Amino acid sequence: MSADQGQIIPPGSTIGILGGGQLGRMTAMAAARLGYRVHSYCPEADSPAFQVSAASSIAAYDDPAALSRFADAVDVVTFEFENVPSATAELLAARKPTRPGPNVLHVAQHRLREKDFLTAAKVPTTRYMEVTGADGLERAVRSIGLPCVLKTAQFGYDGKGQVMIATDSEIASAWGRMGSGIGIGILEGFVDFTHEISVIVARGLDGATAVFPPVENQHRNHVLDTTIAPARLPEAVLMRAEAIARHIAEALNVVGLIAVEMFVAQSGEVLVNELAPRPHNSGHWTIDACVTSQFEQFVRAVCGLPLGSVERHSDAVMKNLLGDDIAAWREILAEPSAKLHLYGKREARPGRKMGHVTRLAPRRK
Ligand code: AMP
Repeated sequence: MSADQGQIIPPGSTIGILGGGQLGRMTAMAAARLGYRVHSYCPEADSPAFQVSAASSIAAYDDPAALSRFADAVDVVTFEFENVPSATAELLAARKPTRPGPNVLHVAQHRLREKDFLTAAKVPTTRYMEVTGADGLERAVRSIGLPCVLKTAQFGYDGKGQVMIATDSEIASAWGRMGSGIGIGILEGFVDFTHEISVIVARGLDGATAVFPPVENQHRNHVLDTTIAPARLPEAVLMRAEAIARHIAEALNVVGLIAVEMFVAQSGEVLVNELAPRPHNSGHWTIDACVTSQFEQFVRAVCGLPLGSVERHSDAVMKNLLGDDIAAWREILAEPSAKLHLYGKREARPGRKMGHVTRLAPRRK
């Protein structure tokens, strides 16, 4: 039973967010500007979102009593983190409007389900196959071809749980290199891409969609390093990417945001890599360079408000600040066109996302 009867959640209400990282933090800040209160739910004490939330729950994602109290305290539920157990999403959805719905999380938290959904929706992706153990891997590599990439179906992110297989000699050790607890794997054909891009789509309660301009993403050590907005690609490729992203939001019946990560192949073909049904690191530039940020748009969509304009008033380059990168805060603040965002994390561990900087330039086209 779903508690979602298409209710509009007006300003003054409380938005419950599962997950307490920087995405939740920036959502809470956007929500506050529109007069909402945010209640963040996260297992880790001292999470970045807690510092800017009206209320917080520190509890496990599978703690039914804590989830029940949370459901009582909020008017609508959403997620800044998609890897919560299905049972949790179902429990909350039975109590309060939960947007996007549990079905969206179910698809997006499992790479095989995600690829099967994309295939059924006729969205181009790279070739892929399920692999359940070292035995099946050899056969799958024969079918997919070399080079290829072995990934865990669940809980992999930022390149964790991923092994590249370039030559025959690497097949035998690949399964072992994934580490223990791989569970089910997915083998994907390696895409010889020229660009990695992403498109963020908002879809409202009434089915209206708004698509942010496609952006170009550059990774370092498998972690997003730089986002360039807009992507420097031919108009036809950008239009194709936008159409694919919109189609996915509609086919999944998303209410909220969905970020679609894609590869642009040498041929110009656009292939979808991954979906994230929430605000996305590659959308942080929208805070400073668009009329409506991805975070405000997320709040609007989840609460059933009209979506805002996605118009870009500036061009932007967003750079993540990892670990000690934030030591440069003073220099960044001195740059006239730089906007600094820090997430309030105490410990600058190597590779940890501590903040980002968006450098603005006048819009060129
Ligand atoms: P993912 O966790 O799927 O987002 O992968 C992390 C990064 O690994 C991507 O941003 C790509 O740079 C690279 N990658 C993942 N899958 C493939 C693939 N099938 N072909 C080529 N590069 C890939």
